Amino acid sequence: MTLTESDKKLITEWLGMCWHERKSEHTFLKSWDYSICAKCGKSVNFQYFNFPSFSPDDWNTLYLIKEKIARDGKWKNFYIWARHQFCKDFVTVCSRDDMEANFNCWLIQPINFFPLVAEAIKEGMM
Ligand SMILES: [Zn+2]
Repeated sequence: MTLTESDKKLITEWLGMCWHERKSEHTFLKSWDYSICAKCGKSVNFQYFNFPSFSPDDWNTLYLIKEKIARDGKWKNFYIWARHQFCKDFVTVCSRDDMEANFNCWLIQPINFFPLVAEAIKEGMM
């Protein structure tokens, strides 16, 4: 699974945050690359671009997403659906307990979790 730029935008806006957009290519301080966001009007450092980063160690965003899914009462459905996706990709002959443990370890990796969340939003689950 890969996370595209449009997936990142989708999740960011689903979290209620702004996916900042430049008003124009012009910037006053090119080295720092600050500009005003065309949507929210905030001063944004486009060198580091948008928050969240969705990097493999972006645990803060994983936490925010998990909290929102739970708050919306959708964790159980998401979990069952995600486990189904896991089983499609990793057909194993191990015991049920092993499968559950392996799945949990896999799910909480940002590199797996973020694309799953994007897919779940696109499928209208959340
Ligand atoms: Zn913005």
